Amino acid sequence: MTMKYFPLFADLENVDVLVVGGGEQAAQKVRLLRKTAARVTVVAETVGEELRELGEQGGIWIVPRAFEARDVEGQRLAFAATGNRVFDAAVSNAARAKGVPINVVDAPELSTFIMPAIVDRAPVTVAIGTEGAAPVLAREIKSRIESLLPANLGALAARAQSLRAQIAGAVSDGRARRRLWERLLLGPFRRAVLSGSKAQADRILAAELRGADAPAAGRVALIGCGPGDPDLLTLKALQRLQDADVLVIDRLVNPQILEYARRDAERIFVGKTPGGPTTSQAEINRILVREASAGKIVARLKGGDPFVFGRAAEEMAALQSAGIAVEVVPGITAAHACAARVGLPLTLREHVRQFAVVTGATADAGLGLDWQALTGKGTAFAVYMGVGNAPLIRRHLLDAGAKPETTVVIVENGTRENERAIATTLQDLTDCAAQLEITGPAVIFVGLDWADAGLERPDTVTTYRRRRQPAKHQAHAKHALTAKVDR
Ligand code: SAH
Repeated sequence: MTMKYFPLFADLENVDVLVVGGGEQAAQKVRLLRKTAARVTVVAETVGEELRELGEQGGIWIVPRAFEARDVEGQRLAFAATGNRVFDAAVSNAARAKGVPINVVDAPELSTFIMPAIVDRAPVTVAIGTEGAAPVLAREIKSRIESLLPANLGALAARAQSLRAQIAGAVSDGRARRRLWERLLLGPFRRAVLSGSKAQADRILAAELRGADAPAAGRVALIGCGPGDPDLLTLKALQRLQDADVLVIDRLVNPQILEYARRDAERIFVGKTPGGPTTSQAEINRILVREASAGKIVARLKGGDPFVFGRAAEEMAALQSAGIAVEVVPGITAAHACAARVGLPLTLREHVRQFAVVTGATADAGLGLDWQALTGKGTAFAVYMGVGNAPLIRRHLLDAGAKPETTVVIVENGTRENERAIATTLQDLTDCAAQLEITGPAVIFVGLDWADAGLERPDTVTTYRRRRQPAKHQAHAKHALTAKVDR
């Protein structure tokens, strides 16, 4: 979705801000604005007690008359909160005419900006907006974040602010400096500041500064990023992602996941797009070694789990032989995620006693698989990268004695916005893959069925059965045309 509103923070230090209206809504805006150092002018014929007192104390300036268009002149921002739609619209028109950003309470159509829900730990502030779509959601998020952030987090940020120049002078290397900040703001120094023990905080700071200039050693984390849904990232994946100086990214990694990385982390895309630009495995290995050797923290982002059809071994071997530390962060593999999406248990007492993951991508005709074993009783399996070879897989399974009516479930783009789930039979697998034009990453489950588990097929799963047409040769011609490569 595109953003309608772009979030930003306005500098209101010593500038003029106008509030039109004198009732409770206006008072609410004034209360918020008084958290800043803006000069607040309130224009209203009558004002409530709170605003009147503030005016008397000199906290705000009250102009006791009706709004006039010239009131917006010289204002950094304007708020209309008169409680009267016609008056509000007049303020909005005057502000727009002068190019002054305007917020009208409860009237986004009259506003050029809207106010977020705010979590205030100044100088740390969190602004939450839903573009007006779901204010209840914004409030819920706000209360969750409120509970997450220590009340005196602001003190920590303020302390950091006061140290910036000193640390910039003491640690010249940018990366070493960032790591120092990470240690300070996330480690014992943070705890000392938050608990108010200044002497202890100073001791920790001095020790950290002494050790900060040691040359940084690079390392690589091979991170399983799951099937797509960012909520399926592990906490460890998230932490490693946020630590990284450079991201080396596979095609299957959902771009949404990159939002969780540091904004300034360098991004290297090494996607192996079928038919598109390709980075060879050897080249990827070289990139990883090169980046880590330069002292960077490298996050190698892979779809699903790095150890399931992820070529992690080659990358680990290359890094190990270059003497670079490498860590593997497991991820949720496509088969697990897709099975969960369609409510299909992968093992089942009595019915499924072994479950295999196999690849359908191998070029040789037999796909190098033991078809007899896969068709054995109590065996089910998930085929990765198999859609392009669906006809071959079907043929081998039938030849090995699998029943044509064996249930086959295909989940394409599992956990993503464009997810599709289809139930068909082994008999109809070829037609299904071709007719439904499955081109996204997909898992094919063979030998699993809801009925065996006493479950109902969810209605998000559509059923595909081939229409038996007399013109058989036409159907064949179509297969040849629509054979697709899925990788
Ligand atoms: N390491 C990955 C697999 C990489 S091989 C993992 O553990 O999931 C690429 C194959 O994974 C695709 O061809 C497809 O078969 C499967 N796959 C990856 N993401 C998928 C998704 N979101 N939905 C369905 N299948 C997916």
